[in-house]
Amino acid sequence: MSDDRTKIVLSEDQIPTRWYNLAPDLPTPPPPPLNPATEQPAQPADLAAIFPPALIEQEMTMERWVPIPEAVREIYKLWRPSPLYRARRLEQAVGTRARIYFKYEGASPVGSHKTNSAVAQAYYNKQAGIERLTTETGAGQWGAALSFACSVFGLACDVFQVRTSYETKPYRHIQMETFGAQVTPSPSERTEAGRSLRERFPDTTGSLGMAISEAIEEAAKDPHANYSLGSVLNHVALHQTVIGQEALAQLEAAGERLPDRLFACAGGGSNLAGIAFPFIHENLEGRGQVHVTACEPAAAPSLTQGEYRYDFGDTAGLTPLLKMYTLGADFVPDPVHAGGLRFHGMAPLVSAAYDQGLLDAVAIRQRAAFAAGITFARAEGIIPASESNHAIAGALDYLATAEDDGDGQVVLIGVSGNGQLDLPAYADYLSGDMLDA
Ligand SMILES: *Cc1c(COP(=O)(O)O)cnc(C)c1O
Repeated sequence: MSDDRTKIVLSEDQIPTRWYNLAPDLPTPPPPPLNPATEQPAQPADLAAIFPPALIEQEMTMERWVPIPEAVREIYKLWRPSPLYRARRLEQAVGTRARIYFKYEGASPVGSHKTNSAVAQAYYNKQAGIERLTTETGAGQWGAALSFACSVFGLACDVFQVRTSYETKPYRHIQMETFGAQVTPSPSERTEAGRSLRERFPDTTGSLGMAISEAIEEAAKDPHANYSLGSVLNHVALHQTVIGQEALAQLEAAGERLPDRLFACAGGGSNLAGIAFPFIHENLEGRGQVHVTACEPAAAPSLTQGEYRYDFGDTAGLTPLLKMYTLGADFVPDPVHAGGLRFHGMAPLVSAAYDQGLLDAVAIRQRAAFAAGITFARAEGIIPASESNHAIAGALDYLATAEDDGDGQVVLIGVSGNGQLDLPAYADYLSGDMLDA
């Protein structure tokens, strides 16, 4: 039985010392990325123009555990270990007898889990002698995380932000600029990809796929610049596994057993991988039966509606071909607020886990997501990120139909970020006019 703590905190020396890689534990090995020109498995050399050697190695490694450099753990200490909460007031608010916990990544420097990978990526690029990182960002959380990480390691940061987010969420680019980054609304006139996309889609509000194309092009043409991706790739999923490892230790510290259910939102899949893969590892080792549910937006339902096939990660077709659940690299979702979930594909490792029955998925409409987020905020005092609301809605939907009011069940929710800079989205919901996409 669990003890009666509300906030379960670990000490700094309990920050994980290694990342967990699901790839070697998958029952069927994950299909490799392909070089689009040859359609053969991509070689390290194919990626060397835009990634440093250490990240390419992590992208391909079949080692189960990858050591976290001390310099990265030092920076993690600014906000890690992140707290795990027992959500008693939420339990009361929704009238469940389940024990609900949430792992909260919103206390990081920029308010989301993205810093876990940003710091690692900036570190390895600095080690490789790189001077500038280019990237894309949707709502701006990844761009902000990388801007912070670049400022830590003395790198320049060049961010292409999806135009609709740049215009409707100005505080994010101010946040990035505060950390010293240059922010360009995408598609832009700065790159060939941007110019041709603007010609093909003159009224476009932009998409992550378009911004990725611009950022890759910009990195590929400068030998001192590399590109950095905030989700999807194996090394990003790897870095995020500090979340789940800590949550495991925290549940144990609270005298709690493994959860019956785990809910996390899924855009590119990194926070889901981060919190869930260490629990899936417990399942595969025969120590648990944690049912993992990916909560994706109905506006970009790659797992529940997409096809499992090779596709590009970006619109212009500059990335390697990735085997993933995809809606097609040309897919432009409705402009829902959860910018971080507006991606056409899904991390290859999450896709493989889904294909092999290690997790399931639900699609959630944004009004339902915000209704759940507001219930959560009023009970727990934390306004969640728009994206995180999908995980909360997934959990509350499940509990609403659970037998015996969920008695005896343990539910873990990944709250990937806070919504302090998402308040215009809440205003839209509260006005009653929110698009029900
Ligand atoms: C970016 C983001 C997401 C979605 O990205 P994943 O790679 O799927 O995790 C979810 N939540 C927050 C707070 C984000 O910033």
